[in-house]
Amino acid sequence: MKPKLFLTRELPEEGMKKLSGYFDMEYNSEDRVLSKQEIIAGISGKDALLCLLTDTIDREVIESNPNLKVISNYAVGYNNIDVKAATELGIPVCNTPGVLTETTADLAWALIMAAARRITEGDRFVRAGKFKGWGPLMLLGGDVFGKTLGIVGMGRIGLATARRAKGFGMRILYTNRSVSREAEEELRAKKVELSELLSEADIVSIHVPLTEETRHLIGEKELAAMKPSAILVNTARGPVVDESALVEALRSNRIRAAGLDVYENEPEVHPGLFELENVVLLPHLGSATIETRTKMALMAAENAIAVFERKTPAAIVNPEVLS
Ligand code: NAP
Repeated sequence: MKPKLFLTRELPEEGMKKLSGYFDMEYNSEDRVLSKQEIIAGISGKDALLCLLTDTIDREVIESNPNLKVISNYAVGYNNIDVKAATELGIPVCNTPGVLTETTADLAWALIMAAARRITEGDRFVRAGKFKGWGPLMLLGGDVFGKTLGIVGMGRIGLATARRAKGFGMRILYTNRSVSREAEEELRAKKVELSELLSEADIVSIHVPLTEETRHLIGEKELAAMKPSAILVNTARGPVVDESALVEALRSNRIRAAGLDVYENEPEVHPGLFELENVVLLPHLGSATIETRTKMALMAAENAIAVFERKTPAAIVNPEVLS
């Protein structure tokens, strides 16, 4: 008898094949996020849950089926899961670190370049028929080459983003609770306090996980500490930035521009952001390449399978439940 798995949304084909080969799988074939009640109904009588960052797996959901053997998240961030509740019930929680690092760093750079060089604004300008020829003062942006990059959270994605800055001859500052030897030795990055990073960096790129400590890490005070010419990029999680304060800072040109992949109340976007030209808005595309989403699907499937094979999953958030 195969173990029973509930999957909250269809994944790339290779992942679906891997899952259906091992599990008796039931999944949501509709292209929408399930409600909490639908997830609770879905995991009823199942042995495993494979969920996405858009699914809130809180205590109520977890306690509705304390017999779950694994919760495997199709994301590296796991702020959508009540890990404490899962741990109390001895349920392993798995994620997909590493396989999406380079792809997300690429997207951070897409946002850095788009915000600094007014790429999406330029695209709108041309489409609107406003391009009447080269202009000496038309859509002037700011240089990226030779500037200072501030990385907030020098983990896997922060480091991959910083590495790309080498080609741009940039100085790198970072904040992190621990020292990143790799960043310091390989990139000569300097660990500083957040206040120093904000006042010195020309581009601030956020890469911390969403935790109680990092919620609204960047608010009115922090935005006010940034240079008026600076750019803020967020590819981490929306609630790390106080979105209302960001709208105000962009509206008043307190900072020059921003590039956002994530939002405080996703999928809702602060209406004030729509009115602004100096912000680039993406619909949470950090890991969105065919290659990476396939790797994530395989890793999430393999993490879940490992638990039933009595092996240690490649990535487990609460390893204490296995001992
Ligand atoms: P990671 O390797 O764990 O890096 C996170 C870094 O943040 C660590 O170096 C950690 O170091 C630091 N950190 C944690 N709390 C901090 C705090 N309070 N102050 C300062 N630094 C802190 O994770 P990752 O793989 O790079 O992923 C980072 C995040 O990116 C994920 O959690 C996820 O939310 C987000 N993400 C988004 C997308 C997207 O689609 N946009 C895709 C992938 C990931 P210390 O513990 O030493 O402080």
